[in-house]
Amino acid sequence: MKLDGQAKQHNVSIEDTTIIKCDNKQVDLEKGIEMVCGGEMYNQGYELRKLSALISPTGKTQVMPVPVFYCLNCGKEVDIQGIE
Ligand SMILES: [Zn+2]
Repeated sequence: MKLDGQAKQHNVSIEDTTIIKCDNKQVDLEKGIEMVCGGEMYNQGYELRKLSALISPTGKTQVMPVPVFYCLNCGKEVDIQGIE
């Protein structure tokens, strides 16, 4: 059974995937209503996270670049971990 599951994962095709749409809510000031962004295109950027010298293994302050994706339509960062 475990082997079956692994074999299936190798055969995943683009048709098995779904597009992740941006769920950012924006208020349309002209219409006065809340709209979901719905953007489907993303760009990659980097968050720069600083590791304090106090807990850094080297004893020096370290900067770690963390890749993030953001919506091209509204600019909101995508929470990859929060996607179900
Ligand atoms: Zn968006």
